[in-house]
Amino acid sequence: MKITIVGAGAMGSLFGGLLAEAGNEVLLIDIWKEHVDNINNEGLWIEGLSGDRFIKISAVTKASKTYGTSDLLIVFVKSYHTETAAKDISFLVGENTVILTLQNGLGNFEILSDILGYEKVIAGTTSYGATILGPGKVRHAGIGPTAIGELDGKITSRLKEIAQLFNQAGIKTETTNNVIGLIWSKLLVNVGINALGALLQVKNGELVKGTYARQLQITLVEEALKVAQKKEIKLTHQDMIEEVAQICEKTKNNLNSMLQDVLKKRKTEIDFINGAIVREGKKLNLSTPANQIITELIKALEESYDKQI
Ligand code: NAD
Repeated sequence: MKITIVGAGAMGSLFGGLLAEAGNEVLLIDIWKEHVDNINNEGLWIEGLSGDRFIKISAVTKASKTYGTSDLLIVFVKSYHTETAAKDISFLVGENTVILTLQNGLGNFEILSDILGYEKVIAGTTSYGATILGPGKVRHAGIGPTAIGELDGKITSRLKEIAQLFNQAGIKTETTNNVIGLIWSKLLVNVGINALGALLQVKNGELVKGTYARQLQITLVEEALKVAQKKEIKLTHQDMIEEVAQICEKTKNNLNSMLQDVLKKRKTEIDFINGAIVREGKKLNLSTPANQIITELIKALEESYDKQI
């Protein structure tokens, strides 16, 4: 398969590297020039859970028409870059190209569908984890299930083919007829953990130890649950509030991704997590005051990065 990864940061490099090792033709596209140069000159360094090694793989900073169309395009930019990235790569999309998003948050498959065509987009969630160590270097930090699905829930042959491709590359992947439910369930977990952890600057485990932190978490998730229920989303767990608490316990030593962004004074994906609950709530006439305040607090934090004492 001819695979193109758009946004070859931590996750894009990891998935691209694993798929290239399994014998696929993979191209990484990333606007980060130093990263691309190091990958082309020395190879992509992956260390951690799948072993320590260099992988030979091609990378470019900009897509070129000469490359032709791809069979599979995997989008792994941060959610706030999805729109620009989708516009940049539109000429890599041919008649049979499948576009896959495994990004976190809500709104990515909608943006990709609007720009590149609903019928071309599939989506999913992954429990794989990765961190960038420096230009050309990535740590494989988490292993867990990946699930992919068609937006209309059908189990198609292209879906099975891509799941098989991932499994052959060692990325344990299932197909699902409820990808929207999976995305929302992961969203609810992120709603209860990310912004709260980022504001309190604590590891996940602390969020269920503190009385006030836990109560805030419950309020955030309850608001999101009301929105999900009104949209008739089929969530993966009966009790999502308890599920979020259990994930905090299981990942008690982790620094969530928004906390990592805040510590590095980077833009966060807040608009696609708690901000998405506020947006979806408004459409349904549901008020989500806790999610609104926490979204605004994170945005205020982002705009004051260079003024902090
Ligand atoms: P990252 O910041 O490491 O990588 C994103 C990359 O996209 C960057 O290298 C950036 O230079 C590049 N980029 C930005 N605009 C671009 C454009 N127009 N064209 C091409 N490249 C562009 O982010 P990440 O941690 O890999 O996360 C990617 C997505 O996956 C996010 O939605 C995140 O929430 C999700 N996710 C991350 C993890 C994880 O462990 N890191 C796990 C699951 C899901």
